[in-house]
Amino acid sequence: MSLPRGMKDFEADEMSGIERIRTVFLKTCGVFGYAVVEPSPIEMLSVLEAKAGPAIRDEVYHFEDKGKRAVALRFDLTVGMTRNASAQRSMRLPARHAAFGGVWRYDEPQKGRYRYFHQWDIEIYGATGAEADAEAVEFTAQMLETLGLCNTRIEISHRMIAESYIVGVMGSKDALGDMLRAVDRTQKRSESEIISEYKSKGYAQDRLEKVMRLAHARGTADEAESALGTGGLEGWDELRAVLGSLDERGVKNVEVNLGIVRGLDYYSGVVFEAFDPDSGMGALAGGGRYDSLAESLGGQSVAAVGAAGGVERTMLAMDAQGIKALPLDRPIVVAYADKDLIRHAASLASGLRRAGIYATVDLAGRSLKKQMSNASQDNARVTIIIKQHDAASQRVIVRNMDSQTEKEVKIEEILADPKSALS
Ligand code: AMP
Repeated sequence: MSLPRGMKDFEADEMSGIERIRTVFLKTCGVFGYAVVEPSPIEMLSVLEAKAGPAIRDEVYHFEDKGKRAVALRFDLTVGMTRNASAQRSMRLPARHAAFGGVWRYDEPQKGRYRYFHQWDIEIYGATGAEADAEAVEFTAQMLETLGLCNTRIEISHRMIAESYIVGVMGSKDALGDMLRAVDRTQKRSESEIISEYKSKGYAQDRLEKVMRLAHARGTADEAESALGTGGLEGWDELRAVLGSLDERGVKNVEVNLGIVRGLDYYSGVVFEAFDPDSGMGALAGGGRYDSLAESLGGQSVAAVGAAGGVERTMLAMDAQGIKALPLDRPIVVAYADKDLIRHAASLASGLRRAGIYATVDLAGRSLKKQMSNASQDNARVTIIIKQHDAASQRVIVRNMDSQTEKEVKIEEILADPKSALS
């Protein structure tokens, strides 16, 4: 008995990896204030076609149900969430919605590309402007950082920059669809292949070469603009405003790449994708602004920006980086040099837990040596050692278990800013 091509069973270790990412996602939703929803797994095929045209039939699982309705399995969470949000007349806007679940795509299976996989997804409805765009990027950056992934890069662009540049080069809007598709392909295929493919469709070589310049326009906003050699394109001011906001938010791993257009999809503004450049795989997450999708799904017009990440691909990247445990799974152990100090240790651990940090204390009154060896066994990230209870100074030792370095810190400093005191 075999499964249909591209389908698979998930074993226990994969499920625990998925659960971990779901836990980080829910926690991140909690700190950003996203309300979790679940869109229907089955849509009317016409809803998916309204989003992406009849060509979507090749990319989704669709069938006739017993009532002879043309239906399809969801291929992302955005369409269902947006259909639902645009139908709710009483929704208080702006609204932050989130979802986590399986999606089906009739993709050609290969490493990191499956026909059934999981996505996390956030959407902000009813907010225009750079701050909402920047929040979707910041959420993505924070997810990847909390998962412990290093060296990730977020590549960002604005759909209007690419569109107005292409219209300028081609002299009309007619070729826009073909040219956006050509630019999108530069992510996967060589430029010469793409140029010869589109030459055979009747496009002039010199214009194709000019369009391909979009994919070379990377780096800072100034670098990308001068690589393109064309100023004054629509979308630049908005992109610069988002980059400014990201800088203020401390999101530093961002680079402009005008080759990011995110296919022919519904995007109308900022677009971005997040990569682990060492993984050799496609994007770990992507998103952007899509203000006209709600209306095209038949609902009321609602501005929207969001992001979605691939869970299995992220797990592969984490494996490749040797990330076995998440920082969230690693406790802070509060150890004490003398049994009399257990209460102080327990009180400090309670303070940390109230700040949402996983903290433990040895309840058996073991020796400090034993507590330290247990802390290593439990994969503690940091051990805090209380050597004496000196009410005047309240200083403790903070030992980083990875670097094996120690520093003396005041308890009040730990409780006021645990993240930096325990880093
Ligand atoms: P998209 O909306 O197509 O950009 O999808 C969002 C994320 O889902 C991508 O950045 C990938 O990480 C992931 N993804 C997309 N297609 C697949 C697939 N066929 N298999 C596994 N992950 C995928």
